[in-house]
Amino acid sequence: MDLVFSNCTVLTNDRENVVLTECDVGVNDGVITELGRSNSRNQPQRLVDASDLLIMPGLINSHTHSPENFSKGRAESVTLGPWLDQIWPALDALEPRQIYIAALLGAAEMLHTGTISVVDHFRQTPMNLAAVDAVAEGYRDSGMRAVVAVMLRDIPQFKGQLLPSVTDQIDIVEQAHLNCDTLKCSKVRVALGPSAPTRCTENLLISARDLALRHGLFLHTHIDETSTDAAEARKRYGTSSVQHLANLELLTPFLSLAHGVWLSSEDFELLASSGSTVVHNPVSNMRLGSGIAPLTALREHGVSVALGSDGAASNDGQDMFEALKAAVLLQRVAGVETKYWITAKEALPLVTSTPARVFGFGTGQITIGAPADFIAINRSGYSFTPQNDWHRQLVFGGNGLKVRYAVVAGKLLLDDERITTFDEENILAEAREIGMRIYTKPGDHVV
Ligand SMILES: [Zn+2]
Repeated sequence: MDLVFSNCTVLTNDRENVVLTECDVGVNDGVITELGRSNSRNQPQRLVDASDLLIMPGLINSHTHSPENFSKGRAESVTLGPWLDQIWPALDALEPRQIYIAALLGAAEMLHTGTISVVDHFRQTPMNLAAVDAVAEGYRDSGMRAVVAVMLRDIPQFKGQLLPSVTDQIDIVEQAHLNCDTLKCSKVRVALGPSAPTRCTENLLISARDLALRHGLFLHTHIDETSTDAAEARKRYGTSSVQHLANLELLTPFLSLAHGVWLSSEDFELLASSGSTVVHNPVSNMRLGSGIAPLTALREHGVSVALGSDGAASNDGQDMFEALKAAVLLQRVAGVETKYWITAKEALPLVTSTPARVFGFGTGQITIGAPADFIAINRSGYSFTPQNDWHRQLVFGGNGLKVRYAVVAGKLLLDDERITTFDEENILAEAREIGMRIYTKPGDHVV
């Protein structure tokens, strides 16, 4: 046996939502091989006394933008349009080393707050292969599971903006996908990330779809984040953004769509029947005043839903426990009838088993034979004292949660609150230095 957490409480998140107590969790070759009490096993390579720990599936962040890890606390009191103009010029052409540091800075924050897998909708302008390789290497060195969705767009945002041709952008994604093998990034995969339907020509969307089909890659895009986005699509296509994607045959189970704040009821049907997933980003939507996504209606229509933090310039952290709490509570002030309120127990799959299934990040459950992807939280702190209901105290408990261990594919990435895969202090120091430099270059708009 490689690793055993002994005598813990386990939130399995399995089909019956079983909570196990005084349980041992044993791991061998990256897989959970023991769940219960055992007196007959050999001494494991590593034994953790987990009597004061709660073990649960590691969280999944289904939408972020790693370069924004340098932009926390900037651009207040602006909506998406002016926010983009204030945040992104300084981030759009980072050096590969800076991109690598941004990825590890976010990885460190996520691991400390219980997130072990991430979808990074990765933007640089113009997009280039060295940048994608750098972010992939960052996640590889973190040990997390990651999907790097390379942001694509060929409709300029302003006059004179130079963007690579459709062919060149598609080639970058294909080469980055092939490079992932060379870089030995088995836990990191490349995906196609059209920025939004209204920022891409039909040619680009169709080319992205075809490459996704050819290599079995995911597609990830923004959709109707603001009312302006939704209105622009209707003006341009005479249909909703979702219908436009359906017409181009992009709505499949391999497509995930971030935000969906301004979806219509016809869109719900299209999304439910296609198996595509909407990624709700409640904190970012509140920060930028974008609106309240129809999370309850999406779920009632049977649409697959996951949660994201969004980038650190519109959040300004990467804590998925915070996103989970915000998502559940936001629906309760959105005029949703009490009987339709999402409960804590129902919400947990939005950051575990649902995105695990959608993005192939393990199973999001603690069961025998599942990949050993889990976290261990201190259960003797304020959030669980006194202990009344594990799920509610986990989701609503707030900042009392202390994540002590994070395990991915059987490997301890966070060991008693210490990151094992990279030197966290060096990353923090370099990130501070980069953060000061990138927003003080001549011509940058400092906000
Ligand atoms: Zn986003």
